[in-house]
Amino acid sequence: MEHNLDKTYTASESLIEQATPSAPSGCPPWGAAKRGGGTEHTRSVAFLTHPLFQAYLEILLRENAKYNLTAITDPEDIRQKHFADSLALLDDEPCPIPQTASLLDVGSGGGFPGVPLKLARPDISLTLLEATGRKADFLRLLVRELGIEAAVMNARAEQAAHDPAFREQFDVVVARAVAALPMLCELCLPFVKPGGVFVAYKGPKEKAGMELEAARGAIALLGGALERVHGEATVYGGRTRIMIRKISQTPANYPRNHGVMRKKPL
Ligand code: SAM
Repeated sequence: MEHNLDKTYTASESLIEQATPSAPSGCPPWGAAKRGGGTEHTRSVAFLTHPLFQAYLEILLRENAKYNLTAITDPEDIRQKHFADSLALLDDEPCPIPQTASLLDVGSGGGFPGVPLKLARPDISLTLLEATGRKADFLRLLVRELGIEAAVMNARAEQAAHDPAFREQFDVVVARAVAALPMLCELCLPFVKPGGVFVAYKGPKEKAGMELEAARGAIALLGGALERVHGEATVYGGRTRIMIRKISQTPANYPRNHGVMRKKPL
């Protein structure tokens, strides 16, 4: 199937229609509404009024200066650009997160997208992976103050992915704003169980499309197959989620060390 990002992109439709048979849907029936031509996520945004999201906002604003978590400091911008953007995956149909899925957020930073997903889907078993010690400290504080269950791992993905305790152990791996797609696939696909899915959160469709083209070889080499791409235009700009199914094991020599990945991207 031809994957042309420009072909079907509208405010309310997926960019690429189903490329492989449907993954099992794990999302609860929050409401019958589908995104219908607007610029908002009509189901997941309902969560933004939940007190736990307000608490998250307050913790983020309180701790931001100390931990250098985000350049976005306007509360409404945080709700839209961080919370709603993280939750958008829950509006994608079929939802790629099965019930009680194990989910790893690689390069979680201030907790995005993993923590909003966990707040909306408490059934998820969440692990947050973060290379920077101070940000991992923040994530531990966040998890404690929100009273959610989540494991926080302070490690580099390229090292943790060779640990048998984590390699090919997750149903779903997500990452946002961590690296360009070829390197991101090398960092993330090794964590995904065969049969599971990796979701890369990206920005506007044009750039996401170029990254996808550049990552085709890496995806195949690492045991993945492009399943679908969802996206929408929002008042804050285009958003794209690239879903890659793990169809076979990742060869043992990947991911390579950081220097090699940078010098010789797949
Ligand atoms: N995902 C968050 C978001 O969307 O707001 C944070 C994005 S921030 C730009 C990128 C984060 O990825 C940083 O916190 C950085 O420390 C982390 N990171 C970068 N490379 C990493 C790696 N190889 N392993 C683990 N974390 C990494």
